[in-house]
Formats: sequence, C-alpha cells, structure tokens
Amino acid sequence: MNGLRATGKRAMSRTAAVKTLFAVITGGIAAVSAVQFYQHRHYQLPIVAGPGVTRVAELSQYGAGLKGTMANTRIFFLEGKEPGGRALVMANTHANEIDGVLTALILIENAVVERGTLIVIPQFNNSASRSTRPGDGYPLFYGIPTAWGIKRFRFGDRGASPLDQWPDPDVYVHYPDRQLLSFLDARNTNRTWPGRPNGPLMERVTDAVMRMLKQEQVDIAIDVHGAETMFPVTNCIVAPEKSMRIATMASLTVTAMEGFENHVEPSPQGFRGLSHREIGDYSETLPFLLEAPFPFLDQPTGPKTADLLLNGKDPFLLSLARQHKLFVPYDESGWPVAKRVGQHCSMTLEIINQYSIKNAGRAIRLGNVPRYADVVRDGVGSYLHDPDKARATDVHYD
Ligand SMILES: [Zn+2]
Repeated sequence: MNGLRATGKRAMSRTAAVKTLFAVITGGIAAVSAVQFYQHRHYQLPIVAGPGVTRVAELSQYGAGLKGTMANTRIFFLEGKEPGGRALVMANTHANEIDGVLTALILIENAVVERGTLIVIPQFNNSASRSTRPGDGYPLFYGIPTAWGIKRFRFGDRGASPLDQWPDPDVYVHYPDRQLLSFLDARNTNRTWPGRPNGPLMERVTDAVMRMLKQEQVDIAIDVHGAETMFPVTNCIVAPEKSMRIATMASLTVTAMEGFENHVEPSPQGFRGLSHREIGDYSETLPFLLEAPFPFLDQPTGPKTADLLLNGKDPFLLSLARQHKLFVPYDESGWPVAKRVGQHCSMTLEIINQYSIKNAGRAIRLGNVPRYADVVRDGVGSYLHDPDKARATDVHYD
C-alpha cells in the first residue's frame, strides 16, 4: 500500500511540475509580447518639418471629441506667399499600406509652396498605426535606409486599435445612409465618412476632417492607399463624377510623360462611407483616392516580412502572374517601395497641376517635390532628413 501511495505522489508532483513549467513559459511569452506591443503603440515617429511648413496643428482643433485620444493626429500646413487654392493629402487611412505615410513625409520634409496651400495629414488613422495583426505575423516595425542610417516606422493595421474603439457592433450601420457594413468597418476610416461629432471614435475622426475641409476651404483631397495585385481596383485613381475630368487628365499625362500606368476607376454611388464618395457628396471639395500595387496585402504570399513590405517580391505572386491571375504586370523585380511612392508623388503633383490649369484663380504651385523617376533613381530614403541634424523645433513626433 505504502509503495503505491508513494508512486501516486511522485506522479502528482510530476504533473504539478509540468503544469508549473507550462505556466512559466506561457507567462514569459505573454510578458515579452506585452512589452513589444507597448513599445510599438508608444513609438513616436520623428517628422522633420521642411522649408515649406508654416504651422503644425492637431485634428482635435476641428473636432473636440478627439482631444486626449489616440485618434488625435498632426496636420502640417505648407502655406505659400501668394494666395491660391488648397490641397489636402491624407496618408495612413489604412496604416498597413506604408506608401502613403512615406509619400506624406517626402512632401512635409521637402515641398516648398509658392502659391496656395498644401495640407498634409501623415497618419490619418493614428490609432490604426499603433495597432498590429499578430495572427497574420505582421512585423511591428520597418526601416527605410537613408544616408544617415535606418529610419524606423511603426507598421500598423487596416483598422483602429480595439484599445481605442471597442466593442465592435455585430453589424456596422453607416451614418447617415444606414447601409449595413461589416462589423470590422466600424474601425475602418475608409468606411466611416462623413462621420458625426458624437459617434464612435473613427466617425469623430472623419467628421473632424469634413469640418476642416469646410473651414479651410480645401479644393482637392487626395487619400493615398495601396492595394493587392490580385484586386482589380489597383494601380489607379478612384474618382467620383465631379473629380473625373481632372483624374482622367492626370492619368493620361503621367502615362504619356512619365511612362507608368495609373488608370481611372469611377467611385461607385451605392457603396457608402468611402472618402472618394462622401467627401464629394458632403462638401465642395473634389476627392481622389490613389492606389499603387502593394503585394504585401495579397493573401497567397510567403511570410509577411519587412522585406516583402519594401521590395514586394514574392515567388507565389510570380507564379500567379505567369498564370495571368494578377491585375498588374509582375516579374522578378517585384513591386518595390520606390516605384510605388514615386507613382504617388507624381500622381499627387499631376492632380494638383491639372486642377490648377482648370481653376487659374485657385491655382496651387509646389516646388522641390521629386517625381516618379527621381524616387526610383534615388530611393525613398534620400528624401527623408536626419532628425538629429534638424533644429529641435522643426522635429515633430507623431
Ligand atoms: Zn487602403
């Protein structure tokens, strides 16, 4: 009897030891992850205000409901000496489409405005830029090589962090059209336009920008994105009826003059909540949405690494391209970040140029912004400035 009891006790203590070991390992992994997620959420991106920046504001100035929240974000104003029209460039509507924020930083850190005003919101969905997708193995950060070292960026998610807007509804009922959208779209700032001041946090973000467009009398708004190579709405400008002429002229001009393709897609009238639809319907502003091919978002790729983010090279997409399953040309060179950001720079400049040709009284004239061929030749990093060498008052953390 005594022998049996002793064997039972030994088995029990072995089970307890295994359970304890398992709890320690799980706790350790949770602790390490918690520190990594905290560092990602609180990392501040340095942005060097270039020679054109005349003032820096916060979105909460246009929507008091954002004050003190992670959804508040910075707005850079580049005002020319000569009065003219006003253009807004918004990036990071989807914070996992990195080409937007890179284009925005090139504008903020380099552009000089001679006439009119350029307004740039580099991290429009600021909360989304502080969220990630661990289930998809997203990298937390990526780095852009520059002459002065690697500039580190947070890699965000498509929607706002649940830490900032929770719980999700079963179905997202769009305001004011009452169209039923996916529950995920409640945190997607490209479904919450035009928004309302007392709605969920992401509706307050879009509502604040709608107010800014009116108060600042913004003529054109450009929302910069990236899209899957397997999705038909890629490598294009999406424009509603009222923006169509300018979008078409901009598209034809870059194809003829700069040799890259960027076709025009009409904004559907029945699909609500998108910037290219609601900004046009609820304000005087002409909206445009830019999509460059962004292979990282495609489902059938290898691991979602920071390399894939930057070079867009993937063997599975290459094989699909050979079977004609992609909507853009694709070869061994992938779809590198310099090409994508270069396209966004040229499209932005060309939309502003075409608007200015047709509205001479509200023209906007910019200088010192690289075009497609410049960014492809020099790389994105050569247009980003060293925050350590800049005057402290010119460095803004976002
Ligand atoms: Zn997007």
